[in-house]
Amino acid sequence: MWELEQLDKVNPEPLPEHLDVICPHCGSPEDPIYGERTGIEDRLSTFDRDGNPKPGMLVERHLIDGDVAIFNRQPSLHRMSMMVHEVRVMQGHTFRFNLAVCTPYNADFDGDEMNLHVIQSEEARAEAKILMRVQEHILTPRYGGAVIGGIHDHISGAYLLSRPGTLIRVEYGLEMLGNIGWTGKLPEIVKDENNKDCFRGQDIISLIIPDNIHLRFRSRSNDDVVVREGSVEGTLDKRAIGAEDGRLLDAIVQTNGPEKGAKFLDEFTQLSIAACTALGFTTGIDDEDLSPISLDAIEKANADARTLVEEELAAFGKDGKGYETRPGRTPRETLEENIMVMLDEGKQKAGDIAKDELNQSGSTNAAVNMAISGARGSMDNLTMMAGSIGQAKVRGKRLERGYNDRVLAHFKRGGRGALDRGFISNSFKRGLEPTEFFMLSVSGRESLVDTAVRTAKSGYMQRRLINAMDDLKVYDDEMLSVRNTANRIIQFSYGEDGIDPSRGVHGSPFNIDVIVDDALGTEGATVVERKSRERDENEEDMGAWEFEAETEGGEN
Ligand SMILES: [Mg+2]
Repeated sequence: MWELEQLDKVNPEPLPEHLDVICPHCGSPEDPIYGERTGIEDRLSTFDRDGNPKPGMLVERHLIDGDVAIFNRQPSLHRMSMMVHEVRVMQGHTFRFNLAVCTPYNADFDGDEMNLHVIQSEEARAEAKILMRVQEHILTPRYGGAVIGGIHDHISGAYLLSRPGTLIRVEYGLEMLGNIGWTGKLPEIVKDENNKDCFRGQDIISLIIPDNIHLRFRSRSNDDVVVREGSVEGTLDKRAIGAEDGRLLDAIVQTNGPEKGAKFLDEFTQLSIAACTALGFTTGIDDEDLSPISLDAIEKANADARTLVEEELAAFGKDGKGYETRPGRTPRETLEENIMVMLDEGKQKAGDIAKDELNQSGSTNAAVNMAISGARGSMDNLTMMAGSIGQAKVRGKRLERGYNDRVLAHFKRGGRGALDRGFISNSFKRGLEPTEFFMLSVSGRESLVDTAVRTAKSGYMQRRLINAMDDLKVYDDEMLSVRNTANRIIQFSYGEDGIDPSRGVHGSPFNIDVIVDDALGTEGATVVERKSRERDENEEDMGAWEFEAETEGGEN
């Protein structure tokens, strides 16, 4: 109301200290007209006779900086779907929040809606602040790793900054450090080939890593990363600071607690964004350019595959008599399987050619850098843009249906060649033939429908599981038994081993290497090969191309 009143004024009043004072029982505001009151009125009134609000009154006020509020994105599938944030009031009508928490909310900015619940009482505020603050949820209860962490540009920046031999001119380095308000000691100055003063990229990063971190792991780019007494050596990428996969991030939060972890995350993400800005990072369609030689080789690989298919079809003949059939399959099915293998190999070959050339442009090619560091996209995506797209599939098979005896009227009836059934030898960059485009859309539609159906199904499954288990509780007895509200034992020991996964290290109860190193005084001589948990990055926005990736569940 107050805000609406102000809209009509030429000089709106600044924010009042309070908007209204209401009695929580009768909801009566101050009555400005009747100053004189009876005893009963006096008792009910919001104000005493001096005009001061009486204790117990509800004071309405504006939301101000520093208030805490619960932020939520639906579907609320896990604990981290509702977290407490500190409010900063800004212009405009949209919520904004730190990109590092996109992962647990599963939020992107293609029209997502989120809810903000402003807490009203001091008790509720305190409780929410202790239990639900973002910091408290960096480590997931699922496996004890960080779900809040760097994404996209944070990873690109880290990668640019930490690649071996990266030198940052002092003026840029100072700007980056200024971005995080760094006031401590500066890193050592070295000279580059032009005899200019520079910082080493890894030294800049080392500044913000706590001194008690000792760590050794293999990065995505197959580089050994060693962190010793807070100084880092080796390329940092998604495996170091990425959400759901960052080993360095895990280590810092696990050893130094959420408060320090959040500080590190804040500084690191700001530093890497500054690095992107200072060093420059841009991608364009020419990142997928290939030389004419490679293009010819790709075309040849595809043509070879098509010829192989023709030969196979000729060997099959009209009815497949004398065609070697696999056990349990009809001749037709065997033929289809063989053709699929041939075409997939053809696509693979074309992709490898593209991949090889793209990899050679490595350090200067932003698209490749993003794929390698895990910032966005995969080498598979790049081969589809530069190499060839491959077979369009419906239910894992080549296209079957459409017109009488053919998929499209552009082909001969009964044709079973590569092109007739949806093999796409072109790439997204070179462009698709109309028939290829149509057939890709057919398979694209299937995966779109699959995604829609899958979300509904898994949502219902989640609901059933939650309802089935919502009265289960881990008891503080010797074996940490799981019991329901009727005190019946469901599990003698929680999870059969009594281990709290949120205190574990990616599924195992502890990191044995750290303990051994601690006991022997060694410095993590072993490389821990731990399977990364990566979610499939499927775009959910309508209109995005969905294409069945050849590799199940991830990159490379
Ligand atoms: Mg969205």
